[in-house]
Amino acid sequence: LRPADTDLVTLVQDAADAFRAAHPDRPLTLTDGPASVALRVDPHRVRQVLDNLLTNAAVHTPAGTPVCVTVSAGSGRARVEVTDAGPGIPPADRERVFDRFYRVDKARSRDRGGSGLGLAVARSLVRAHGGTVEVTSEPGRTVFTVSLPLRAAAAPVSGGPERS
Ligand code: ATP
Ligand code: MG
Repeated sequence: LRPADTDLVTLVQDAADAFRAAHPDRPLTLTDGPASVALRVDPHRVRQVLDNLLTNAAVHTPAGTPVCVTVSAGSGRARVEVTDAGPGIPPADRERVFDRFYRVDKARSRDRGGSGLGLAVARSLVRAHGGTVEVTSEPGRTVFTVSLPLRAAAAPVSGGPERS
């Protein structure tokens, strides 16, 4: 990793712009949130994670399915939620989608050319930053949540008020 001072909101906006250009048939909403969220992360790796989740929300849902992205910060964590209104991921598959090469519907996923690596890579990249990726899903609503520490665990903390 090559950590650098990074604004998560700008990173998400860039990923949203790229998504809209690549998937003009998918309405993407960026929820109002903080104007900026300062992180010390590898911006290219975090962007790769965002791109993986956004691409999934397009590739594994029917044409025209809306996608929503929300950034928030609090309790020492920055969070990005990528929500789609697609068919959802069955309970039995929900944890396995993070396994390498795992695809819910092998035949159909092969048509779409996916290798089943995106979420495994995303999770390992986020974990390398001390964060987590989780999924909740029901028919019509799937949410992937990325959580990252607002500051490195080893960052020195001197006196004075905590900033969130
Ligand atoms: P790759 O990302 O390597 O191109 P992939 O998209 O198939 O291929 P992952 O991103 O790891 O691989 O996703 C694994 C599987 O999880 C997908 O094949 C799909 O079955 C399921 N999946 C992922 N995201 C969603 C989603 N938003 N809605 C429904 N199913 C999903
Ligand atoms: Mg993928």
